[in-house]
This record gives sequence, structure tokens and C-alpha cells, in this order.
Amino acid sequence: MARNSKKKSLESQYRVLFYLGEGTFGTVKLALHLKTEALVAVKMVEISKKTLKVILVEREILATLNHPNIIRLFQVIVTPGCVNFILEYASGGNLFDLIQEHGPLQEEEAKHIFGQLVASVKYCHNLNIVHRDIKPQNVLLDEERNVKLTDFGLAIKCSPGRLLSRNCGTKRFWAPEILLGEPYDSRKTDVWSLGVLLFFITTGDYPFAGSTLIEFEQKLTTGSCRIPPYISVKLENLIHQILTVPPEKRPSIEDIEKHPWVMKCDI
Ligand code: AMP
Repeated sequence: MARNSKKKSLESQYRVLFYLGEGTFGTVKLALHLKTEALVAVKMVEISKKTLKVILVEREILATLNHPNIIRLFQVIVTPGCVNFILEYASGGNLFDLIQEHGPLQEEEAKHIFGQLVASVKYCHNLNIVHRDIKPQNVLLDEERNVKLTDFGLAIKCSPGRLLSRNCGTKRFWAPEILLGEPYDSRKTDVWSLGVLLFFITTGDYPFAGSTLIEFEQKLTTGSCRIPPYISVKLENLIHQILTVPPEKRPSIEDIEKHPWVMKCDI
């Protein structure tokens, strides 16, 4: 028994190197797989009443996903009080930090990144999985700036037509129907978050800003966002289409993929 637990322990298989980042539920560190010398990311989540559901969901959903633009789960190691997700390492950091450090992306680069992100979300939606926390912090990049969507702790399996009611995710990326507390189609709310993300990576800003919370909420629920003049006509059209307030009029992920601005990404 003792031999078995040693065999399975984190330290016997990996050397933890340094801190990579902090998520809502855990800390992520870089580690070296001793046997293969491959670098991996270890997401360490403390087991508690609050995190148990997130851990189980993330484990189940990541294990079913296999897509080049979604972070891969290699292994799960349980240590006392903690679950360690051994993940593919994305050395290019996350999109939020990239934009904070270097400013907004040129449209050509944004097209490449957004096209891959659309491909990963379409893959999930076709498997009846919705992410529910799409935001630049959860979009990682590898050394060639390929997208790796991550953090499926709030994801859920959801058949088409089923409406959800629990709000979750990050307020800036919420669709109006979530803010209004209405039952929501989570495919359409994922699409809305993609629109906020697209605005952010191409302008460095958020589409709905206000000096007060009330002002922000008013702008969000009426969909009033001003697109800067340097944005191309095609991209402006795409952002306006995505940020359509009535969810039934908002495009699906398949519609977005067909938009002329979007770079179709064949796997
Ligand atoms: P998360 O808990 O998944 O939201 O991750 C928090 C932060 O840790 C991210 O924003 C990244 O900066 C970093 N991170 C998470 N997973 C990885 C990974 N697989 N490779 C590199 N960095 C990561």
C-alpha cells in the first residue's frame, strides 16, 4: 500500500519547478516529468466543499475532450487534501496577459487566434459541452501562438434547447440574459463571451464600460457599445452580430465560423 501510494505521488513522477498562475480554484505550477523530461503544467486544487464539484466536472469534461486547441489532460494525481491536474504546458501564457503587456492585436493575428478559438468552442458545442467561462485569461497560447482553451471547471454537459438558470463565470463576459437572471441558452451565452473577448483582443478594452456599475449594466442590457474607428468594417459587423442582445437573434458558433472575417480553421 505504502509502495503504491509512493508510486502514485506527485514528487515521485514530477519535479515542480515554478509558479505559472492563479485561477479561481487553484494554483498552477510548471513541472518536469522525470521519466520523459517533458514540461507539464500542474493545476493544484485544494479539496473542499466549494471545490469538489468543480474538480469532478473539470476532470470528467477534460478527459472527454481531444482537440488541438483545447488543453490536454494527461493525468490526475490525488495527494492529501489536493487534486493535481497534470496538463499540457502552454508556454505562451494567456491572452489577457499578452494584451496587457503588448496592447491589442493586429487584425491578422486576431483572426488566427479567434479562428482557432471558434474551432475549439464549436467542437465542445457539438459534444453538448458548454464552457461558461470564456475569457482571455482562459485562452492559453503555445510557443507558436496556437490557442489552447482551458479551465473547464464551470463547464457543463447541456443538450440543445435546455435552458440553464445558475449564473456563473465572469460578469464582464456575461450575456445580458444572465445579468437579467433569465433562463439562458448556454451555447448563446458562450457566443456572447466570445464577442466580448474579440472586442478585448482587438481594442484592448471592454465593449461595455461605465463609470458606475449601473451604467455598465445599462449598456450591457441595451447592447450599446462603441466600436473604435480603426476596426475594419468586416470585424465591426462581426462584433455587432455577436453582441446581439436577444439570444434568439444572436448567431450560433456555426454562423460565426461562416462569417467572412473569421479564419476557418481546419483540423
Ligand atoms: P486556471 O486555474 O486554469 O484558470 O489557470 C490560471 C492561470 O495559470 C492561467 O491564466 C495561466 O496563466 C496559467 N496556466 C493554467 N494552465 C496552464 C497551462 N496548461 N500552461 C501554462 N500556463 C497555465
